[in-house]
Amino acid sequence: MDFGLTPEQAALQERVDAFCRQHCTDAHAAALDREPRYPAELHRALAESRLLGWCLPAAYGGADGGPMEGCIINERLGRHSSAATNLLFINGVSAALIALGGTEAQKEEYVRGVAEGRLRFAFALTEPGAGSDAAAIASRAVRDANTYVVHGTKLYTTGALDADYILTVVRTRPDGKASRGTSLLIVPRTAAGVTVTPLEKIAGNCIASCRVEYDGVRVDADQRVGPEDGAWSILMVGAGLERLTVAASSVGAARAVLDEVTAHVTTREQFGQPVSRFQAIQHQLADIATEIDAMELLTYRAAWMAAQGMVRPKEISMAKLYCSERLSEIVLRGMRLLGGGAYFTATPMPRRMREAMLGLYAGGTVEIQRNVIAKSLGL
Ligand SMILES: Cc1cc2nc3c(=O)[nH]c(=O)nc-3n(C[C@H](O)[C@H](O)[C@H](O)COP(=O)(O)OP(=O)(O)OC[C@H]3O[C@@H](n4cnc5c(N)ncnc54)[C@H](O)[C@@H]3O)c2cc1C
Repeated sequence: MDFGLTPEQAALQERVDAFCRQHCTDAHAAALDREPRYPAELHRALAESRLLGWCLPAAYGGADGGPMEGCIINERLGRHSSAATNLLFINGVSAALIALGGTEAQKEEYVRGVAEGRLRFAFALTEPGAGSDAAAIASRAVRDANTYVVHGTKLYTTGALDADYILTVVRTRPDGKASRGTSLLIVPRTAAGVTVTPLEKIAGNCIASCRVEYDGVRVDADQRVGPEDGAWSILMVGAGLERLTVAASSVGAARAVLDEVTAHVTTREQFGQPVSRFQAIQHQLADIATEIDAMELLTYRAAWMAAQGMVRPKEISMAKLYCSERLSEIVLRGMRLLGGGAYFTATPMPRRMREAMLGLYAGGTVEIQRNVIAKSLGL
């Protein structure tokens, strides 16, 4: 059993850390939080550093990275910038789905466009009536000669306001199972009939999550990714990728909390000594450190299995479940350990706390992960 990184993976880790020192400072994250605007410079820098296209094929400008590399990148970015991990997800995963199921022309245009930072994507699955139950989507695309006519509403589509394209999941065969009647369309955000309305969030407003309405939108048939009615298996790959991304970025965010808290308790003096001398405080940090190691082990185990070609939804869901729940608890403990100062928004912890909540929903809620795990136990 080898828990180490290869020299290439260690170098990647160092490269991402160097990127963060330059582009993802605490001041930058605070500014994006305070005055939300699309982080175009960060987007460009991620593309130029070949991080945006980490999981995309090198033949189309990507970095050919596997699940381990994805976890390394998301973990290190997750320490400093939820905007960066979000950008990687909405663009990288959308393009990864096109790389998986798209035509040569689509890959050349869209996958390369994303890898080079020229094109922005959003991914639209969730609807008012279909959240955890993704198979309940009601958005319809009806074939009319060489186009599809799309009607429907998507919710929480992150990045849609600033996207060039919205990768949209639609029903093309309304009767029967969604797994046999769902298609994936690349819809230009500016197409006639598309209306995008941003919805205010508790965090991450620099990359708006939106309501997207499709009112008779005509989409060329050659904008369909994969076979008609056959998008479900492509979507399942995307779900695994998203869950691993959430797990890895949660590990990074939790380590940032531990670092900040450790720095505080070792310097803050009360009753004539640093508060870190109190065993009650030490035990809390010991617990946090242990939990973060467990988060990391679950995440990298799932990534390693995926890298070996093992399809293991259970292990991926375990990582996503454990990491998102632990992080949401660790930030609350961080708030307490920093004392009253943490209640003031000039410090990073309140922002970390709001950002941490996203992991509880993204990639499927924690209850849905438990369902996946229970199913794999034969329950
Ligand atoms: C900030 C943010 C950004 C997002 N970005 C995107 C995006 O870019 N694209 C996109 O398509 N979606 C996006 N989502 C949607 C996200 O994937 C969904 O919120 C998530 O899948 C849950 O769906 P829901 O919100 O409708 O909750 P619901 O499905 O309505 O769930 C409500 C509650 O019931 C529980 N529940 C539901 N079914 C079961 C069950 N079978 N067993 C046990 N408990 C259950 C849930 O766990 C939850 O606690 C985003 C969400 C957020 C919060």
